[in-house]
Amino acid sequence: MLAITALGDLAGAVPVTRSGARPGDQVAVAGQLGSAAAGLALLVAGVGEDNAEVAGLITFDGSDVMAMSGAALRGYRNQVAMIFQDPRAHVNPVRRIGDYMTEALRTNLDVPATAANRRAADMLGQVGITDGERRLRQYPHELSGGMLQRVMIAAALLTEPKLLLADEPTTALDVTTQAEVMAILDDLRREFGLAMLFITHDLELAAAICDRTAVMYAGQIVEVRESALLHDDPLHPYTAALSAARPDIAQTAQRLAAIPGRPLSAFEAPDSECAFAPRCPHARDICRAETPELIGLDGGLSRCVRAIDLRGHLTPEPTEDGPPHV
Ligand code: SF4
Repeated sequence: MLAITALGDLAGAVPVTRSGARPGDQVAVAGQLGSAAAGLALLVAGVGEDNAEVAGLITFDGSDVMAMSGAALRGYRNQVAMIFQDPRAHVNPVRRIGDYMTEALRTNLDVPATAANRRAADMLGQVGITDGERRLRQYPHELSGGMLQRVMIAAALLTEPKLLLADEPTTALDVTTQAEVMAILDDLRREFGLAMLFITHDLELAAAICDRTAVMYAGQIVEVRESALLHDDPLHPYTAALSAARPDIAQTAQRLAAIPGRPLSAFEAPDSECAFAPRCPHARDICRAETPELIGLDGGLSRCVRAIDLRGHLTPEPTEDGPPHV
């Protein structure tokens, strides 16, 4: 059983609700392995809640996504597209690129095959793949990983979605290709006015491309913050520890500041205390007496009972004695 909480908080952060509607915004969800960030993306996509213990709310244009069924759910899914981490694992190796790309157009939107192929070839051009008609006849093994991820992006945008879910879309690519794919994704997202939920474990990347970032730990959102402030002025000790643990290319001999203990998976999160307490240098008795709720602070949200006390003291830079205690 996967337990994911705080979706309601995220619904306010994701720019797909009328209350927070800013089409074209992008929100990152940053979390390490086991944080359930990818599980959250599946829930937003309208799948996966059957095997999850979920608290909170996901809304899209004012409608509760998890309460949708039948035609309403199918209509919602037509407005949401998803790009996965490993493109090769999400295409059928024995079907042509054209079949993969045009399937949603033909089956969900009843676009005739000829028109669907023409639109697919045009979209391939928009992601920088020339000779689109020939590419549509090729099989996945004939394309490189970077090219296949661009095919994924093109396929995702063909149905003209309003929300793009990108689950670590560059993790399986080399660094140069990562930069190319991110640039294409960012350009097209702006051009199409898409909202994007970007799942990543990389706070730096999140800060580079997303307006806001939600940080997840053990299946819970522990902080939502303007990305530009996340590193210099975090509101939660876990975010501060993550920032301190990142390598600094300007200091080659510096030892990395690891977070002590081991990360909890979503299904291990306690329901009577702060999930981060065993690893937190700021933990006090109060942290083990209750499960923190998200509170609003300085324009962001923090799931820390000591957030107000710690405000301004969560410097991400490690000192000789470790993080400062308050
Ligand atoms: S509630 Fe306590 S243990 Fe949890 S993050 Fe805040 S200070 Fe640390």
